[in-house]
Amino acid sequence: MAETVQQRLDHLTAPGKYYESLEDGAVRCYACAHRCLIKPGRRGICQVRFNQDGELRVPWGYVAAIQVDPIEKKPFNHFLPGSDALSFGMLGCDFHCGYCQNWLTSQVMRDPKADMGAYYVREITPKKMVSIADQQNAPILVSTYNEPLITTEWAIEIFKKAKQAGMQCAYVSNGNATPEVLDAVAPYLSAYKIDLKSMRDKNYRQLGGVLQHVLDSIAYAKKIGLWVEVVTLVVPGFNDDPAELWDAARYLSSVSVDIPWHVTAYHPDYKMTDNPYTESGSLQIASEIGQEAGLNFVYAGNLPGRVGSLENTFCPHCNFLLITRNGYIVRDYRITAQGHCPRCGKSIPGIWTNEPSKVRLDGWGTPHRI
Ligand code: SF4
Repeated sequence: MAETVQQRLDHLTAPGKYYESLEDGAVRCYACAHRCLIKPGRRGICQVRFNQDGELRVPWGYVAAIQVDPIEKKPFNHFLPGSDALSFGMLGCDFHCGYCQNWLTSQVMRDPKADMGAYYVREITPKKMVSIADQQNAPILVSTYNEPLITTEWAIEIFKKAKQAGMQCAYVSNGNATPEVLDAVAPYLSAYKIDLKSMRDKNYRQLGGVLQHVLDSIAYAKKIGLWVEVVTLVVPGFNDDPAELWDAARYLSSVSVDIPWHVTAYHPDYKMTDNPYTESGSLQIASEIGQEAGLNFVYAGNLPGRVGSLENTFCPHCNFLLITRNGYIVRDYRITAQGHCPRCGKSIPGIWTNEPSKVRLDGWGTPHRI
């Protein structure tokens, strides 16, 4: 009889680290803020972590998606601009967002229509991944496409090797983290992108999360020194009320005015197909709110060439144009080797190359399949 998706994935597991053992063989997982209490033979909300005889088994030894993306696609605008990032995803998620663009991999075992995502599984070793990154001249490895927090043990195994090879690593995450898991991954992580999907808890409940957990993760990730960028996908009729956008901008500003805020355009996908596409005017309004709330770096994304200067980086002190972008392509780069504005000398927050003359300009700006 053919193997089921669950059987196939359950073979690709290892003992977990981010959990505590409780009475009667139960475990409490803390890889994400759901903190599932899992009895023997049962699974966590994400479905890919499960209790086998009192031990938490976690995903291991595979990827379900791997490609080279421009770092701007993640999106990170203040993390080695112009670089390629070897990006990998696994299967499963702790949320079930109706508009997920990666639902075929993220919703495996949560939605039967997504189970075909298991056919993308490719067994691989951390050494092989680092060697692919090296061959592809990608100085960054990113855990992305599905929720990286739920596969943190495997990500850390890869990131250890990547760091030894002089690479930097990042998470592209929904921010449903715990302090414990962020503390565990932080030594290997340079940058952490968090989706702030709404400022209304009822919206978060609809997606399978809790607003406060995400807000706490943004503050905690900053506190422990990760480079944090935040994305809000502006979905008409869901989270585009200016009052809600003001709440988001004020919150980010209260944590740090130097957190880049990406307000990006939505397109219908998966189960959310009735809401209209986001217009550039909505991104303009959201960006103005971010700027008025005091954020130094606000970007409008997913509508290249249609949002004026909102794809570019300006010095927050003298307004000098530091980086010109078009979509995922860097057109011009003027930050100094010391990470300063060349005109006024202000230090620009972010992770920058010390060889600005080598920043790739006018690249392809598109993913590269492996
Ligand atoms: S990662 Fe989150 S959803 Fe999955 S088992 Fe752990 S606490 Fe539950």
